[in-house]
Amino acid sequence: MLLVLRVSSAPMKTVSFLSLRNLLVLSLLCGLRLPAQQQTPVRNVVLVMTDGMRWQEIFRGADETLLTPENYYNKRDVAPLKQQFLAATAEERRRKLMPFFWEHFGSTGFIFGDQDAGSTASVTNGKNFSYPGYSETLTGHPDPRIDSNDDKPNPNLTVLAWLNHTPKFKGSVAAFGAWHTIANAVNAEKCGCVDNAAYDPLVISPMPPALAVLNAVKRDSPREWDDETFDAPTFYTAAEYVKAKKPHVLYISLGETDEWAHAGNYGEYLLSANRADQYLKQLWDLLQSMPEYRDSTALIFTTDHGRGTVGKAWQTHGEKTPESKDIFIAVSAPGMNGNGVQKNVALVTQSQVAATLARFLGEDWKTAEPAAGAPLPLK
Ligand SMILES: [Zn+2]
Repeated sequence: MLLVLRVSSAPMKTVSFLSLRNLLVLSLLCGLRLPAQQQTPVRNVVLVMTDGMRWQEIFRGADETLLTPENYYNKRDVAPLKQQFLAATAEERRRKLMPFFWEHFGSTGFIFGDQDAGSTASVTNGKNFSYPGYSETLTGHPDPRIDSNDDKPNPNLTVLAWLNHTPKFKGSVAAFGAWHTIANAVNAEKCGCVDNAAYDPLVISPMPPALAVLNAVKRDSPREWDDETFDAPTFYTAAEYVKAKKPHVLYISLGETDEWAHAGNYGEYLLSANRADQYLKQLWDLLQSMPEYRDSTALIFTTDHGRGTVGKAWQTHGEKTPESKDIFIAVSAPGMNGNGVQKNVALVTQSQVAATLARFLGEDWKTAEPAAGAPLPLK
């Protein structure tokens, strides 16, 4: 540090005499730490989505007016949830709801979509529901052919599939979804990657014992939704896969936030958002414990669509709920200095996520797929 401090406070001519290259060599020789961006290139990217999570709860925390017994399993006691999630200010409430999110992205990451701070993030597909949103996220562009949530293969190439066809990332891409349609949004055939969703078992070689138990849990559990598991088996299946196969590109899609909101169960919607945050933390701690990922992994956390705002509209979304186009997008990477919430910035869109993901790995998705949005402005 001493050398850097002395040089940076030296007269300009001294700085120009010591060229940047010499400075770098000198600082390396002296064991000084360069900015992390220069130290540790990103080698891995993890994209996590939780379905239909509103930007309102991300930035303002739990909404007290919605946290009523009627909105929690039809008259369950909400006192414990009020204790857990309510507080006087939006900042306190959001940290109670998603503590890891705020610790991780809040200081050095980039968080888009806080409309109270002058930042809006939106989908561009005009549909404001799931499959169009997943396809836009994974391909970087809307596709009018994807106009339903029907469980059909995505006709488009996703950035995940494209990466899995590069020599650098072949065999090192894996996708996990709680909702079965996620497998088709990724399109296993086009991707050639691990693409596991809903109640489908995952079999790999060698087979980790924990994965066999997770397959049994998926098979034997009651099915609240016939095409979607709870988030837990999906998350832990992905975590076991990470431990066993160490993919460079990992996609995890959680679904409970959307399902509980549609059911009018605001209490469980909050709890599932809080669980998603705990999964992010568990995943991050796991990655940081592994040399393949430590300090070399970018993380992106976002959602497929927003939800309504007025009256009971928080439960729903779609073309008839225009405000449900609005989402949040959070990104982090080693050495990033984003200052957390972006304030008074231009609109960003879901179509920018795919190229952002690729850029972290040094790849240019927008050139490969010109219809895709540009990488997010991370400066
Ligand atoms: Zn939905």
